[in-house]
Amino acid sequence: MSSIIQLLPDHVANQIAAGEVVQRPASVVKELLENAVDAKATDIKLIIKDAGKSLIQVIDNGVGMNVTDARLCFARHATSKIRQAEDLFSLHTKGFRGEALASIAAIAHMEMKTKQDQDELGTHIIIEGSKFVSQEAAVVPKGTSFAVKNLFFNIPARRNFLKSDTVEFRHVMDEFQRVALAHPNIHFTFYHNGSEMYNLPAAGYRQRIVGIMSGKTNEKLVPVNEDTEIINIQGFVCKPEFAKKNRGEQFFFVNDRFIKSGYLHHAVMSAYEGLLKDGCQPSYFLFLQVPPNTIDINIHPTKTEIKFDDEQALYAILRASIKHSLGQFNVAPVLDFDRDANLDTPYHYKDMEAETPTIQVDTTFNPFTDDKTNQHYSKASSGTSSYSSSGASSGSSYSGSSFSGYSKRVEPTASWESLYVGLDTENPESIESSPFTFENEEVTSSLFNEDEVEQVAQKTYQIHKKYIVSPIKSGMIIVDQQRAHQRILYEQFLLNMTVNQAASQQLLFPLDLFYSASEMKQIEELKPSLETTGFVFDDSKTDHLVVSGIPVNITESEVSLVIEQLLSDLQDGIPANSFSQNDTIAKSMAKSLAVKTGSYLTEKEQDNLVNGLFACKDPNISPFQKPTFITMRVEDIDKKFAL
Ligand code: ADP
Ligand code: MG
Repeated sequence: MSSIIQLLPDHVANQIAAGEVVQRPASVVKELLENAVDAKATDIKLIIKDAGKSLIQVIDNGVGMNVTDARLCFARHATSKIRQAEDLFSLHTKGFRGEALASIAAIAHMEMKTKQDQDELGTHIIIEGSKFVSQEAAVVPKGTSFAVKNLFFNIPARRNFLKSDTVEFRHVMDEFQRVALAHPNIHFTFYHNGSEMYNLPAAGYRQRIVGIMSGKTNEKLVPVNEDTEIINIQGFVCKPEFAKKNRGEQFFFVNDRFIKSGYLHHAVMSAYEGLLKDGCQPSYFLFLQVPPNTIDINIHPTKTEIKFDDEQALYAILRASIKHSLGQFNVAPVLDFDRDANLDTPYHYKDMEAETPTIQVDTTFNPFTDDKTNQHYSKASSGTSSYSSSGASSGSSYSGSSFSGYSKRVEPTASWESLYVGLDTENPESIESSPFTFENEEVTSSLFNEDEVEQVAQKTYQIHKKYIVSPIKSGMIIVDQQRAHQRILYEQFLLNMTVNQAASQQLLFPLDLFYSASEMKQIEELKPSLETTGFVFDDSKTDHLVVSGIPVNITESEVSLVIEQLLSDLQDGIPANSFSQNDTIAKSMAKSLAVKTGSYLTEKEQDNLVNGLFACKDPNISPFQKPTFITMRVEDIDKKFAL
């Protein structure tokens, strides 16, 4: 049999590689900007048309390329940035794979002009779908200019897959912002369809952040600075009162590269613990420098995750330094209304050296002697009760004074009855009538009928401020409070929007809410749908929204939250038809207004929630397709006990 394996021709291999490197115009923007940064440019211009679909041009004043390199740079695995595998451990450039230009050239019309400082003439190359169309000497300024036109011209499926200009533009914007934030010392300009989006002169981090975000950002920022052997942290976090509903302004850079890290994000969030309103997200711009050999260099071109050698230490340092900054700038105590002041470190302890805890050991302690001795022991060590429990291996030490609360519960006489305390005593049949008789219920879509809930579920219990447990005839249901409330609100909003004319409450003083130009554009588009929920808007200005009436089921203070959430839910564009617009709005409002996990609910509220849920058309799932409750039948419980 003849052999069947063949090497793929270069242009095919390049097209395949392009699938990984270039997903959308924004990927090209990222690669070209990063190349310009790597070329040590001090001035970089980005020019795009139609969100990058018809043109992406990046012009830099960097080192440029000589004739040979100008041709070679389009070859696959052609890079000037590493020579051997070891170089990967001391990487100081963005690129190193030598794949980007080859990939882009495979799926677009590309034109490059480049010149090195010392050369008289530069090189002008045109390459289309991996084919060199022309190469000539040309009079061009120092540096390099790439123009990429008609992206995916030869892969119609990919081209059709692109989203609307609004969405693609947003992605380009994200990439631009990431590179521009990481390199404040470079002058960046950005034009879209002929209008200037940004002109950012070389500056420091603070000015760059303010230049990119909006004018008001400056007053929100608190600096963070920390220099240790394993990490240097610079940057800013925002004061808690300016936290937003979305995660749009959260940036980590590691060695000047934008990264995402759930773990480090968690460290930041934990530094804000107790300072943020429910569901709010602080903005942060954190620039971390670590030795290149302590991170995993195998960074996929399109991925932004990263692995650190010593994550735990970084976590601790990051958290501590942000906490310190928030404290130092006196943000914490002022805003911390809800916190129990008793839990705070008294001020005069701040900055004091922590004392090493000492363990007092009672050398006379003998666990086998009688109770009297034990009590003596417990008292003697009452200051260090946590040690006394581990020190005393015999169970009897729990009867000592420091555990008196606990000992009451384990006293044999009180224990079994106490298991029933709180269960429905006014309605004893609910337990007695059929505690262990099972109805061989078929699992129907609603799992139990509604009267069953009404009659039996007169008692509800909240556990972990998260679930509502309620006994039903066949066992019990466990309701997820947040999801259940989302379902209720979602159906309410949808009903208001589609059937009822929603009632509106007039505000005494209209609210002025400030948004960026692109956000305002989105809000304008949504106004008709929002009005059906009960919002009333006055004529808005270009940079702010004037709200004069709000839906009856929300409060004034929730308005900005609702709109922020809505904007963040619409990052992928506004749905075209009004039905899905209503659906998106109802979902988003349900999400922002629903009680959250962690909220305490009174018995009445728990009751309303359970009843409200089962009055819904579709009580089984949340608007986000997650189960709202589960049923545990007595059989299921029995099975657990049978183990
Ligand atoms: P990588 O950046 O991974 O090396 P690329 O395909 O992006 O791979 O670029 C290939 C090479 O082309 C780079 O290593 C660099 O030498 C050269 N190059 C690309 N863009 C520029 C630029 N704007 N200025 C100077 N040289 C460039
Ligand atoms: Mg590159």
